This record gives sequence, structure tokens and C-alpha cells, in this order.
Amino acid sequence: MRLIQGIFLIFLLISCSRTVVRSPAAEIGQTDINIVFDIDYTIVQPATDPLDPDVIKIDDELYKVNSWTRDIIESLSRHHNVRIYFFSGGKKERNEKLLKKIKTNSGRSLHEFTQDIFSYDDLHQVAEEGSFSQRLKKNLIPLGLNLDRTILIDDNANFAFKGQERNMLWLGKTYHHYEDFNKSFRDLGNTKVLQEYIPTSFQQWFVARNKLKFVYELLDDAIVNEQLGRVDFLDYISTNREDYIPYGEKFSDHYRKIYLEELPDKNMNCLRAIQSF
Ligand SMILES: [Mg+2]
Repeated sequence: MRLIQGIFLIFLLISCSRTVVRSPAAEIGQTDINIVFDIDYTIVQPATDPLDPDVIKIDDELYKVNSWTRDIIESLSRHHNVRIYFFSGGKKERNEKLLKKIKTNSGRSLHEFTQDIFSYDDLHQVAEEGSFSQRLKKNLIPLGLNLDRTILIDDNANFAFKGQERNMLWLGKTYHHYEDFNKSFRDLGNTKVLQEYIPTSFQQWFVARNKLKFVYELLDDAIVNEQLGRVDFLDYISTNREDYIPYGEKFSDHYRKIYLEELPDKNMNCLRAIQSF
């Protein structure tokens, strides 16, 4: 009988301790962080290799999922206070189809990780003339996103709405996806491929291939440091973005640390290249 009472007491203590450690702020959503991903040239690229088996076709358009896309969305969503959104200037139907077709390693589609998807109709027009991103902006306020708790990940910084520059995390210069750097030479002179998006050095190719990894490291450190009570999430990003994202397409000690520890074996050539910088 005493044994049963003891087990019951232990069970009661565990139940109570779980109740005590739960954050009341997290329960009512006050601490949620909104991470908003652009789609084109951020999580996918136009496919350039017709022989690539890992290509997604939506309405006659071919897409290649960027390196790290699946990993970082799965990893970020594991934080209890992170909400994932997508915001693309593409049509809503296309955006939804595409996100449903991209499956993560756990078998869930990106659509299943999403709190909401914003599309062309959600863009805010600020001018009659100019390029697409000069006329139309990604204004986060009408979408109900708290500017103190939201970061937009985008390859095109021009989409930032006036006054929301702090909420824009630019990925750095855009390039086409090439699985292998040597394949990029094949498209030089190909009129069907925008030449300005072809990496012409190994450093450019390597940074482009791994840009979401750099973003993940920054976001994850910002989330964890905030959880530890050290610094506000957005303040951490503003202060440290230049250290994490190689806008100059060169590698600091920070990148060497990340990549020397984590690159898979198949990228040993990359390791050697980094070490030579
Ligand atoms: Mg884009």
C-alpha cells in the first residue's frame, strides 16, 4: 500500500512541477516570434538542370528547393514560441500548391508548418511606376503581425515597407541554384538564364548554396539568447546580422567554426576551399 502511495505522490509531484515551469506569457501568445519567409529565390529557385530528379513542377514552372530550406523550417518550428509564415508576391494558388509539394524529412509539407500564407493580393502598392518591388511592398502591419516580434526573410530588400527596415533580413545577393559549382559555367551565354544570377566564383556559389544555413544560425541564436533573457530577438538580429550572413561573400572565423563542424562529407571540397580563404 505504501508503495502505491509513494508512486502516486511522485506522479503528483511531476504533474505539479510541469505546471509550475510553464510560462504564462507563452500560453497567451505574448512571446510568439513570427518568422516570415519569402518564397522565390529564398526557399526555391527556378530549376536550371532539367535532369535533376529533385525538381518540383507547378503549372509548367520548374522549381528547385534551396539547400537547408527543409531543415531550417523544421528546426525553427521546434521552438515553442515561433510561428512560421510565408509571403510571396506570387499568386496565392501557386504559393499554396508549391508549399504543399515541398516535403520535409519528417514527411510533412511546408504548408503544414505554416501559420498563414500571404501572396500577391497582400502586397501594399506604394507607387504607380517602377519595378515590381518598387511599386509593391510587403507591409507587415495589415497582416496583423507585431513589428516588435516579426522578421521577414527575403532575397529582395526592396520589398521592405517604409519604417519596417528592421524587420527585413536580406539574404544577400541572389544566384541561381547549381548543385555543383562547375555546372554554372554551362549556363554562361545561355539566353534563357538570367546571367546576373550565375555565380562566377566558388565563394559566390558556396555562399549562395548555404545562405539559409547562415540565416538559421542567426535566427536560432537570437531565439535562444532571448529565451535566456539576454537580449531581445530583433535586437540580436540587428546587432549581429553582419557577423552571420556573408554579405561580402567572404568567410569570417564565425563561418569557419560553423562549417568545419557541420558540413557533411560530400562537401569536403568546400571545406578545403574555406580553409584556403
Ligand atoms: Mg524573392
